[in-house]
Amino acid sequence: MYKVDNNGFYGKFGGAFIPEMMHKNIEYLQNEYLQIIQTKEFQENFRGLLRDYVGRPSPLYFSEALSNKYGGRIYLKREDLNHTGSHKINNTIGQILLAKHLGKKRIIAETGAGQHGVATATVCAKAGLECIVYMGATDVQRQQPNVEKMNFLGAKVVPVTSGNKTLKDATNEAIRDWISNPEDTHYIIGSVVGPHPYPDMVARFQSVISEEIKVQLLEKTGNENPSKVIACVGGGSNAAGAFYHFLDQKQVELIAVEAAGKGVDTGESAATTALGNTGVLHGAMTLLMQTEDGQIVEPYSVSAGLDYPGIGPLHSHLFDSNRASFINVTDNEALDAALELTNLEGIIPALESSHALAALNKIEIADEEVVILNLSGRGDKDMETYLNYFNSKNC
Ligand SMILES: *Cc1c(COP(=O)(O)O)cnc(C)c1O
Repeated sequence: MYKVDNNGFYGKFGGAFIPEMMHKNIEYLQNEYLQIIQTKEFQENFRGLLRDYVGRPSPLYFSEALSNKYGGRIYLKREDLNHTGSHKINNTIGQILLAKHLGKKRIIAETGAGQHGVATATVCAKAGLECIVYMGATDVQRQQPNVEKMNFLGAKVVPVTSGNKTLKDATNEAIRDWISNPEDTHYIIGSVVGPHPYPDMVARFQSVISEEIKVQLLEKTGNENPSKVIACVGGGSNAAGAFYHFLDQKQVELIAVEAAGKGVDTGESAATTALGNTGVLHGAMTLLMQTEDGQIVEPYSVSAGLDYPGIGPLHSHLFDSNRASFINVTDNEALDAALELTNLEGIIPALESSHALAALNKIEIADEEVVILNLSGRGDKDMETYLNYFNSKNC
């Protein structure tokens, strides 16, 4: 009911709204992706790498301190402990195996903050494939450490100087590249966005998160279903992975957390469900923030991974059908939540994940409830932001 249909739609969202020149590539993927990724050989390779290269299963950690503070029993799904520091590697591992299977020699990707770029450069180094990462020129300057990592991993980072010189412009450039190089190139999209089959394919690769949660919860509590699952949503891939095997379990409450930036009404926000409406973004019918004449509104969040003007079609459908509740969290609420987890548990979370943590303040949790919070990544990349915020707060 909440999974993709045969035409690539989730309710009225999804599909493939793409330039004529992309049809051949996309149609091929649409026809082949399920057959390829469901073979025994593919699954063995994928599972083996998730175990030995990524370090899965990621632990499910009972946070006594958060439980004492917010009620219920709160468990953190530790995607922060994965190789390269977040859930993004689950998807890039899957897609590099697909690219190899298809005999592709060249990988392209686009990246905003650089996290997906690093995860892509990592698997390309491992697979020995050429890697080109398109990145807005503004982002290249803002995200120097990740640019250096990609370069060190052997990827070529191409600064894009059109438009606002950010993620949207990098995406256009990646699409242009794919159209010019349809034969030898695979395009690795980093979230549950883009034309069908990407949202479904990425959700399936990330669904290992909820698959593991079920096994781990059963072991720890005797029940594989929690009361609530909380995850942050940029494009929506970590949330899709954490929700996936609970989508049809109506008793499991799904809570998606968006970035309000400086506040939903400030004009500097990325809270798509609060501010957006239906339109086409990156090849899919979905919810996005746009002006009356359909121009994309530049999003804002302190967290680079949530700084995206839409959400993927699965999440648009979960919102539209009320299957998931969507709440939003400001920059400052997320920053305070990051410090709280650091102080209570000695775990420094990614700024994106801190939005999910801040949601604990905004929901009711009954004593008997079991709550899963997907800790999508670690905070090393955000130390400068954390230090600046808390230094300025203290003086
Ligand atoms: C990129 C990123 C996100 C946001 O992307 P989704 O596709 O919405 O998951 C969230 N957390 C971390 C740590 C990230 O790097």
